[in-house]
Amino acid sequence: MFTAIQHSVSPFDAERFRRDFPILQREVYGRPLVYLDNGATTQKPLAVLQTIERFYNQINANIHRGVHRLSAESTEEYERARTTVQRYINAQHPHEVLFTAGATAGINMVANAFGDAFVREGDEIIVSEMEHHSNLVPWQMLCQRKGAQLRVWRFDERGELSLDHLAALMGKRTKLLAITHVSNTLGTVNPIAQITALAHVHGVAVMVDGAQGIKHGKVDVQQLDADFYAFSGHKIYGPTGIGVLYGKEQWLSKMPPWQGGGDMVATVTLERTTYNDLPFKFEAGTSNYIGAAGLAAALDYYSAVGIEAATAYEHELLQYATQQLQAIDGLMIIGNADSKAAIISFVQQGVHPYDTGMILDKMGVAVRTGNHCTQPTVDHFGLPGTVRASFAFYNTPAEVDCLVEAVRRARQMTL
Ligand code: PMP
Repeated sequence: MFTAIQHSVSPFDAERFRRDFPILQREVYGRPLVYLDNGATTQKPLAVLQTIERFYNQINANIHRGVHRLSAESTEEYERARTTVQRYINAQHPHEVLFTAGATAGINMVANAFGDAFVREGDEIIVSEMEHHSNLVPWQMLCQRKGAQLRVWRFDERGELSLDHLAALMGKRTKLLAITHVSNTLGTVNPIAQITALAHVHGVAVMVDGAQGIKHGKVDVQQLDADFYAFSGHKIYGPTGIGVLYGKEQWLSKMPPWQGGGDMVATVTLERTTYNDLPFKFEAGTSNYIGAAGLAAALDYYSAVGIEAATAYEHELLQYATQQLQAIDGLMIIGNADSKAAIISFVQQGVHPYDTGMILDKMGVAVRTGNHCTQPTVDHFGLPGTVRASFAFYNTPAEVDCLVEAVRRARQMTL
């Protein structure tokens, strides 16, 4: 089964890492949990859970504002988390790392602040057809507000985007391209470095949605030359409610703040306010400082596991699952790009994705069904939705076997 693949690369000890994730020991309906919904959110290792517990138990105090010891320690942890993120994504400066509530919040911040500063009536924004609603709707809203045009970069039947099409779409009025690093439905890994190189020739800024990309290999924002890169902590083994917006200093320094409140100000009178420096200008109100420390713990943990090794292993799982699922009669995989992350969407002839999902659930297999917040992507294929299995490094070939067996059963039960 998996042996051919197992022998081809250095062994990766998923079983060992599974022990770091308490939730993976639990059962559902009396069966071992097979968690294949990592595209929606990943599970958290003890290192993250313990960081959060220690913070609440030992340190908790609001950051940046207090003179007292706990506040100083809290602030130190928070700013250390920023530096951890900076190093992880290889940002040039810590102040290019803004903490947000998640990828969605980061993208909305750019749509508002960049949009206010740089987008005028008649300008154009390009989005790809495979965007998550989070990297589509904010741009539609911006275009509506500003009287700008939204142009769509369409993908082909394999789920790939062509650079030639992008070149043809960009014009003198194009201000920004919003593009996902990795499609959460098709699994396509977009060639971001090539895309930004082309966009920059035309003077177009690039907003990269890194919600899925952040866990797929090493992300180096300087090498990608992304103008903005947004991601969520919960998709990379960190807590919910925390995320990051990376932005190049050259943009952030020219953008107005989006939200007003505490921490983002320098001086305030009843008439007038001056704003704080980066990154605080974009961090109004009490930040999720404990979430930030949890995220830093997750990044440290993932680095210790080995980002490249984990990604290579996930790719083997993907290949194995693809082989096995393809062998099932009437099953069609949606998204067959050459470069794919460990995400598989599929449909079965005569079986509604929702029914497959329900039956799989009863067998302990957690997958996602529906349009995965990418309605235009599933519309492209004329489908009501897909079943999506998405893998993490703690998944095993035996779990792929469970998935395949459950999918076969689902078909037998519904036909
Ligand atoms: N973009 C992509 C590609 C995603 O997969 C997701 C989460 N499904 C998001 C954006 C939004 O992330 P969040 O809900 O954590 O803000």
